[in-house]
Amino acid sequence: MSKIRVMSENLANKIAAGEVVEKCASVVKELVENSIDAGANNIKVNLIDGGLTSIAVVDNGSGMDKEDAVLSFSRHATSKIYKDDDLFFIETLGFRGEALASIASVAEVDMETCNSDIGTHVHIKGGVMDLVEATSARVGTSITITNLFYNTPARLKYLKSEATELNNCTSFIEKLSLANPSIAFTLTNNDRVVVKTSGSGNLLKTIHEIYGLNVSSNMLEIKASSDDFEVTGFVGKPGILKKNRNHFNTFVNGRIVRNNEINRAINDAYNTYKHEGFYPIVVINIETDPTLVDVNIHPTKQDIKMSKMDELVSLIYKTIKEALYNNLIIPNAIVDDALNEVKSDFIEPSVYDKDKTVTEVVQTTFDFGTVKEEEPVIKNEAFKSLKLYPIGQVHGTYIIAENEDGMFILDQHAAHERVNYEMIKKRFADEVVQYTDMLVPLSIELSTSDFNAFMDNVSVLEDLGFKIEEFGINTILIKGHPTWLAKNFEGDNLRTIVDLVIENGKNFNKDRFLDSLAKMVSCKMSVKANEHLSLGEMEKLLDDLVKCDNPYNCCHGRPSIMKFTNYELEKMFKRVM
Ligand code: ZN
Ligand code: ZN
Repeated sequence: MSKIRVMSENLANKIAAGEVVEKCASVVKELVENSIDAGANNIKVNLIDGGLTSIAVVDNGSGMDKEDAVLSFSRHATSKIYKDDDLFFIETLGFRGEALASIASVAEVDMETCNSDIGTHVHIKGGVMDLVEATSARVGTSITITNLFYNTPARLKYLKSEATELNNCTSFIEKLSLANPSIAFTLTNNDRVVVKTSGSGNLLKTIHEIYGLNVSSNMLEIKASSDDFEVTGFVGKPGILKKNRNHFNTFVNGRIVRNNEINRAINDAYNTYKHEGFYPIVVINIETDPTLVDVNIHPTKQDIKMSKMDELVSLIYKTIKEALYNNLIIPNAIVDDALNEVKSDFIEPSVYDKDKTVTEVVQTTFDFGTVKEEEPVIKNEAFKSLKLYPIGQVHGTYIIAENEDGMFILDQHAAHERVNYEMIKKRFADEVVQYTDMLVPLSIELSTSDFNAFMDNVSVLEDLGFKIEEFGINTILIKGHPTWLAKNFEGDNLRTIVDLVIENGKNFNKDRFLDSLAKMVSCKMSVKANEHLSLGEMEKLLDDLVKCDNPYNCCHGRPSIMKFTNYELEKMFKRVM
């Protein structure tokens, strides 16, 4: 008797199900991607209890005849037609061919499908097809999954709460809608509409349908290409931010991807335009030759590997940074017409969007009923030639200034920090470093590991003009520093620079280190709140600020200046109606 037992197909399917299907959203993903492959432009996903009770997908795709309907539930079904020039596509389909069989092995499936006059009704439970009958049906496929994981208790217990499963499905359908603006998607849960898009083919309109007006009216269009990549889409202005990266919507050749290098490039492009820990909303389509995409990645993961990743990452970084730079404006204080109050609240885009959206004051055009007036927008290059006149200081913290266009209010620390940050960054690029010998050299004793970590990267400080010597066991002596470092930095503040080198230790990245150094030093060197400034000092600060590349934020992304236009002032005081 043979010792080797052949694994039954049903068991193999169950094992495969564990890999491909791990939550309700993965069932939704497999079914909806089948609908897209079938050419559907209208796809409805109806969940009961977040998918825990049932998941139904109804599409108007090409549907199947009886033979294909039955075959679609066998493993390695290869009846699908695909573009043979698209390796990436084939590979995903290869996995998907198994998916339906895998789902059917761990759930109850009811499917009606039709590609001509006669439809087919198929019922499968636990991988056993117990009904195949003819039915009258419209063209397309409707498939309902119930009792997910009923025969695999070990997996069943890993299903999350209804709210979590629904959230996962919602975020997947939202991303898929953004990836496919020409397909109308509807997602309902217990008959309540959660996501609905029109399939208009217009990406900005889809963004509106997913995120609401406040987001869609604050998006910047991007479009750029390099030898191997074409990047298009929309990126959010820094005024509209989220508390997590879930709204980095990135697609490669129409497929949803999540990649750390791409995410980092997006985040880096917003450096100093936003607070740390907050993230923009972006929708980016990347088109490329499919052969550049590494297909050997697990099907349920959305990660992607690509040759020429460096080229892609720098294209994305550059494109977003340019879009932000070219659209910088002084934020206007928004005046609520009804209340005549400055408001900074924000309409939540979706009830399922649990993470709070933060909004800084957003530039807007005013709609005053019959009178519609658009204030001229001062973009950053024009800003550099502005002259602002200081009026005075409020609470020793804010500077009030004016010019012929209106009134400005500045956070003096944020403004000064921006000035220092850009100054220091420029000094970093100097060919010849200027340095000052310290009157009293500073010795710092470190632990052995910190000492080693510091000495590993000491050259980066030496290149900047710091004079550092080893001084006995695990001790360093700082004897000089670059001239841009203010005198008040000598002493304990120098210790924070040493600590920063050590913190950056393990995977030391020079650019990142220099940026955090510039941020830290500029913050410490800048005038604080509750510090009195003379009119002359204020004027100097205003003059320096307007010359900055991004005068509107401190280096941590906090606002530094806001504007009340003359029109807003008049409106507030009812001088105009
Ligand atoms: Zn600061
Ligand atoms: Zn700051």
